[in-house]
Amino acid sequence: MPEPVPMPVNRLVDVAIVGAGLCGLALARLLMARGQTVQVIEARDRLGGRVLTQQCATTGQALDLGASWFWPETEPRITALLSELGLASHAQHDPGDALWLTDPNREPTRRTEPNGVHVGARRITGGATQLTHALAQSLPPGCVRTNLAVQVLRDRGAFIELQPDTGHPIRARQVVLALPPRLVHEHIQFEPPLPAAVWQALAATPTWMADQAKSVTTFAQPFWRAAGQSGNAFVRHAQAVLGEVFDASAEGTDAGALGGFVALDAAQRQHFRRGLPLLINSQLTQLFGAAAQNGEAFLQDWADEPWTCSLSDRKHPSEPPLNEPLLRQPLWSGRLFLGGSETAAHGVGHMEGALESADRLHHALCRPHASARSAVALPVATVAGGACDTRSAAIALFASSVQALRDMAAHRYRLHLTRLLSSQQVELLTQRALLAAADQVYSESLARLDRLLPALDAADSQIVNGRHALTAALLAPFEGWNKGLLEAALQHNAASCALSNFPTEHQPDAETLRAITLDLAAAWREFALELNSRLLVAAGDETLVS
Ligand SMILES: Cc1cc2nc3c(=O)[nH]c(=O)nc-3n(C[C@H](O)[C@H](O)[C@H](O)COP(=O)(O)OP(=O)(O)OC[C@H]3O[C@@H](n4cnc5c(N)ncnc54)[C@H](O)[C@@H]3O)c2cc1C
Repeated sequence: MPEPVPMPVNRLVDVAIVGAGLCGLALARLLMARGQTVQVIEARDRLGGRVLTQQCATTGQALDLGASWFWPETEPRITALLSELGLASHAQHDPGDALWLTDPNREPTRRTEPNGVHVGARRITGGATQLTHALAQSLPPGCVRTNLAVQVLRDRGAFIELQPDTGHPIRARQVVLALPPRLVHEHIQFEPPLPAAVWQALAATPTWMADQAKSVTTFAQPFWRAAGQSGNAFVRHAQAVLGEVFDASAEGTDAGALGGFVALDAAQRQHFRRGLPLLINSQLTQLFGAAAQNGEAFLQDWADEPWTCSLSDRKHPSEPPLNEPLLRQPLWSGRLFLGGSETAAHGVGHMEGALESADRLHHALCRPHASARSAVALPVATVAGGACDTRSAAIALFASSVQALRDMAAHRYRLHLTRLLSSQQVELLTQRALLAAADQVYSESLARLDRLLPALDAADSQIVNGRHALTAALLAPFEGWNKGLLEAALQHNAASCALSNFPTEHQPDAETLRAITLDLAAAWREFALELNSRLLVAAGDETLVS
């Protein structure tokens, strides 16, 4: 990355990004590297949004009170970004027995979870804010303005005017709203209004984890490990205070920590506010014994955070995130875009989704500059030869990478399924795991396409009725893959003991199969359109894209 240059104040910028969470920061870094002027506007006095790490002064541990885990096998973007930024990660501690408490008047029982509980999850060493800090450090001084909440967006034709709660309007050629859709719906006014369908989709998209409270309690040692316990616990009775507990100890210290998600809803937490640390302490003591009595408790209630939790999220219990294509459409003739994890096609709701969204927007916002093209050129040896040979080699490379992704898809389906099961999510298992596996293939295929664009020389091809001439050749390796994936999934389900308790998943009926097929077809259509759009943008035909 080149040395960042300070931002001049109050001038028309290429792109204004509202929200300095993971998506906003990652996008700003990508755009700045392409030589664009960027202004990030953040309502809070800190960066990172739902990524928040607090330091425990007593034990010296970094504690994640927001996002914490990522899964390298299914989340390639965050894995690659951490390695690019030189940030370390470590495995979530899972070995040992989990505890289950189903009756408040009984002792917990110990259970061995054959697949573990967190299925390959890792944590960023030093806390998840290592990632957002590293991204922020790559931006020039003045690029991010904090304590400024955007309230109104006005389309002025050649630019968009953003009116914050204080101070002068900010002007930008293009704007990205990198924040939860429901906050856009509740806090931002649009002149002219957004299309009704998009407006409804914004209101209907839940903010992942926004209504949750997370606690981390620190100890001098992770004493449960010596007792053969993993630190994982599930409390499943009506008086549960923490529903789910896990080992949150920092890497490289002798100290220990137990994290947990509070089982009380936002209104109950409000009611028990002052007594909550004591209730958490007593729940941990009931689970792990007297050694858990003297912990130091840290608590973050996200429902109290107006820049994360919308009024609507507060009212309704947490729902799994949706994959909503409407939120990925360009608005105001390609000058306005929605972003953030909830708008992602893959990894929606997760940090991976925030990065996927940043990546998509980076391509949607404008055409790659010549310098960026040469920076991602293919190794010469791979594509040596004339323009035609180079292109054929690039198409062949794309086809072989699609084949490799196809080969992995069934395995990834099983991974998504196991993860859903181990996080106690039991609704629409097959459908969700299949879509996650398919979206992952599409998302990674688009990332591979981006790397091959220079060699594909998209500008030197015909465009007929908005369809780029290379689109068909690049989509060909996907032939029959949706059907194959569905068949592999059904075969796995029929043989799976874990699914035998879920008849609709074990042997899905015709209606369920129809719904799954329609969903897979919709995901495919969106991918095919996006692939075509990227070729059109690379060909310089932006008018056909927005
Ligand atoms: C308790 C908890 C646990 C989680 N655990 C995990 C996990 O283990 N793994 C995982 O992958 N993900 C996890 N997540 C989800 C993860 O944190 C998010 O997916 C990710 O951080 C979202 O990033 P984002 O940039 O899309 O949005 P956000 O982080 O929400 O950022 C949006 C930003 O916009 C700002 N903003 C809002 N309104 C305005 C406005 N009007 N003007 C200006 N700025 C505004 C906000 O202040 C915020 O900084 C967890 C989340 C929570 C709350």
